[in-house]
Amino acid sequence: MNENLAKVIAYLESANRGESSMSEEVIEKAGEDFKQALRKQFQSQDYEFKARPSNLGRPLCQLQMEAAGARKADKNYSFKMIVTFGDAVEAILKAVLSSCDINYEEGSKVSISLAKQGADVGIEDLSGETDLYTDDRVDDIKSCSPWAYRNKFLNFKGMKSHDTFGYLTQLHLYAFGSKKEVGGWWAVNKSSGEVAYLEDESSDEEVQQSVDDAFVKVKALEDNKPFERCFEDEPETFRKKETGNRILGEACSWCDFKFSCWEGLEYKPQPISSAREPRWLYYTHTEDKSNVEEKKS
Ligand code: SF4
Repeated sequence: MNENLAKVIAYLESANRGESSMSEEVIEKAGEDFKQALRKQFQSQDYEFKARPSNLGRPLCQLQMEAAGARKADKNYSFKMIVTFGDAVEAILKAVLSSCDINYEEGSKVSISLAKQGADVGIEDLSGETDLYTDDRVDDIKSCSPWAYRNKFLNFKGMKSHDTFGYLTQLHLYAFGSKKEVGGWWAVNKSSGEVAYLEDESSDEEVQQSVDDAFVKVKALEDNKPFERCFEDEPETFRKKETGNRILGEACSWCDFKFSCWEGLEYKPQPISSAREPRWLYYTHTEDKSNVEEKKS
């Protein structure tokens, strides 16, 4: 187990026994972080799309949609609660990390001068703010669902195959901008409170590749490159057999612009399933019902 994670777990166990301590200074800082989060989430702010380390890991098509002001899918009212939980989790974890015997440093603003990198892209720099540094490496904090905790944050292979939000690129750009080594992700399961630390195992070449790819996206946005979907829809399967329906894959399912991108898209329970609570999927095409019934039998 990662040494710092072991220290966090030991600290939380000591807190369970009533034997931990947390300084007033750390508590005040966590309070201020949470106040700032409430301001960010609930005081309206003018939002203008800008290429940033935190969004450049997303597919170019999503960025193009956002830059063009395409309509986002409506969010459930609970969205604000979920994102504010995430901010609260970050403030709590930082307070815990600051209270453990860990080489911990608060995050900082980073700026990547594109001109200096020889990227002729029309904007001067990419800026963002890192969450924290441990052992002088760049780390990020992510609160996550139980599914993401198990499938994305428990091993690096999982992160690579489910990185729909571009966490790898974000960390690589932060490392590049802060001139520090990449560290990894502190992940907190919002449902259980479990904490994991996933080390970013990318090589220096892979980090550089992320940075180069990000510059290519910035250039494409600046040049108003014509929109092209980065993904196709996929055949739906049921008990390993194709149903004839077509559905969105993982990246498109998480995309805010899916309804703008796929005309006639429907979010509905799997028609072929007779389960009491069938899975809900995004359908780009649904076969005639009688054909589906035939395939089911
Ligand atoms: S729905 Fe898929 S293809 Fe369309 S913009 Fe989003 S990620 Fe790209």
